[in-house]
Amino acid sequence: MALRLFNTLRRQVEEFIPFDAEDKNVGMYCCGPTVYDYGHIGNFRTFVFADLVRRYLAFKGFTVNHVMNITDVEDKIIRRIAESGTPLAEFTGRYTDAFLEDLDILKCLRPHQLPRATNFIPQIIDLIVRLEKRGIAYRTSDGSVYFGIAAYRTCGCQYGQLVQLDPDAQRQTERISGDEYDKENASDFALWKARVSQDGSVFWESPWGQGRPGWHIECSAMSMALLGPSFDLHLGGEDLAFPHHEDEIAQSEGSGLQQCGRPFVKHWLHASHLLVEGKKMSKSLGNYYTVRDLVTQGFSGREIRFLLLRAHYRETFNFTLEGLEGARVALNRIDVLLGRLTELTESIPAAPTDSVSKLPIKVAEALDDDLNVSRAWASVFDWVRDTNVALATGRFQPTDAARELAGWHLIETALGLGRKLDQPTPPEILERVKARTAAKLAHDFVKADLIREELRSLGWTVEDTKTGAKPKRL
Ligand SMILES: [Zn+2]
Repeated sequence: MALRLFNTLRRQVEEFIPFDAEDKNVGMYCCGPTVYDYGHIGNFRTFVFADLVRRYLAFKGFTVNHVMNITDVEDKIIRRIAESGTPLAEFTGRYTDAFLEDLDILKCLRPHQLPRATNFIPQIIDLIVRLEKRGIAYRTSDGSVYFGIAAYRTCGCQYGQLVQLDPDAQRQTERISGDEYDKENASDFALWKARVSQDGSVFWESPWGQGRPGWHIECSAMSMALLGPSFDLHLGGEDLAFPHHEDEIAQSEGSGLQQCGRPFVKHWLHASHLLVEGKKMSKSLGNYYTVRDLVTQGFSGREIRFLLLRAHYRETFNFTLEGLEGARVALNRIDVLLGRLTELTESIPAAPTDSVSKLPIKVAEALDDDLNVSRAWASVFDWVRDTNVALATGRFQPTDAARELAGWHLIETALGLGRKLDQPTPPEILERVKARTAAKLAHDFVKADLIREELRSLGWTVEDTKTGAKPKRL
């Protein structure tokens, strides 16, 4: 079956067909984090969603080139480094590393390319020069450069492709220098910001003097540099649709780099907001969680990922700690079943079989329908129930278990939950086991016994096996 996705550009669900439909290559860009703090759980809804899209495209046989930018120069970053006195690269490097660790915790595959804005200043300047030459960008007396929406429209281009703009507000000619604005009007926005005293040492030389790029132009320059002037898929949180993504379209299509008739992006996908404990997340309400906050509370990345993937990406989702407890119970049901199936396949070598599990077919049917995860999870838990019933009859053979395990592993590549692994043995325990073995070899049995007792007090025991001493939890 064909994969169908909602395209924000046309406000409808449509079949996903990449430009390179024959070889099934897909260029996918997801707006990444602005690295000025730890990412909160709302940010990660979008990144986990992007990971699902990428994994599912691979499941469908597409070869995905997944690009995610790191915004490492922006208004908020400049404010923070001025407050903390940390150099730009050190400050943003710290939060970029933290972001990548969080992605790993949530079992997201790392994007194939992670361009940092500060490494693309020449491409950004080239793009602005091009817009200026085409009469769409103009410089102001302070050495800044703005995108001119009226001139863009005069070229026959449409500003307001992703959102319906208020026609009255569009008459405004105000200029916006900040990176973020939420008024539903078409305002000229900054492409290049002339250096001001608050910028400190954060500036680059340019044809317009010293300054730094605006946020929106960074994504246009990096996505086109790495994926070409027209690519297949662009994702982001719904709060980015306007103005950020609208501005990206304007800058990119305003450059005229696309082949005639081709858009900047064929398919736009937007993930909805996340509420936490029923409210918009905010530090003052005490419902603001980073991934590491939740890990500190004892939840695993796998549980957080599962909960973030429970609701359809276009629905507002209410994330709660109770929901995380529920995620733990649900995942445990899957793990117990996988354990039983594995045990059965290990008991007797399974004979090869031609039969296939129905699970991947059902899950794929659901995900083909605009990534209908609710239906996909319902199929998974029906499978858990039915397989448990079949196991209880005692007629389930190792071949059946192998078939169902193979089915699970196949859809697992798309869902990315992994299996619960036993906790690794802490190094201090391994050290004591080694010391006990050494004591025994030296015939110091008193010491060996003392270490054994010590291990017991720490909740561990030692089993002497043919391959050596093995620590085991009590
Ligand atoms: Zn972006």
